[in-house]
Amino acid sequence: ADGKPDRGVPGVKAGKTPGVPETPPPGPGELQQTPQEIEGPFFRLGAPRRSSLLEPGDQPGVILSGRVLNEKGTPIPGAVVNFWSSDACGNYDMAGYRYTGYVVTDEAGRYEITTIIPGYYQPRKARHIHVKLQAVSRPVTTQLYLEGEPGNTDDEYYHPALLVPCTVDDAGV
Ligand code: FE
Repeated sequence: ADGKPDRGVPGVKAGKTPGVPETPPPGPGELQQTPQEIEGPFFRLGAPRRSSLLEPGDQPGVILSGRVLNEKGTPIPGAVVNFWSSDACGNYDMAGYRYTGYVVTDEAGRYEITTIIPGYYQPRKARHIHVKLQAVSRPVTTQLYLEGEPGNTDDEYYHPALLVPCTVDDAGV
């Protein structure tokens, strides 16, 4: 009604799971911190640095870009941003490093990675990309959700602040 896109309602565990830090409300003039979410069982330490997670034969599904900022909005260069997701069928690679890797933010705090649209798997309802980033303080672990995915608001971890606005290019990416 206010002309903004409907970003949906948070799931019951969005941004608040036992053992996961809850982000404090922003101070005056500060940005709201990114909600933290579960790491889950599939984070693979030692994944390679690379800006594409595509495997041979994959078509690119998503080019995910963003910035790492502190609460004041100041870009954080040199932050290590790890990504991991399931394959298109919802399976994680627990032996190798398929669909996981990390990038390092540039001088403006920017990152970009090309990957597939992951599958989803029980009990999750939403396709999601796990993220763990670290700069000069504690790591931040969260998940990102893709705009337009029908399962988002049925997922207990879905949070509107973690919804990635998407546009589709001529190649369908
Ligand atoms: Fe997952």
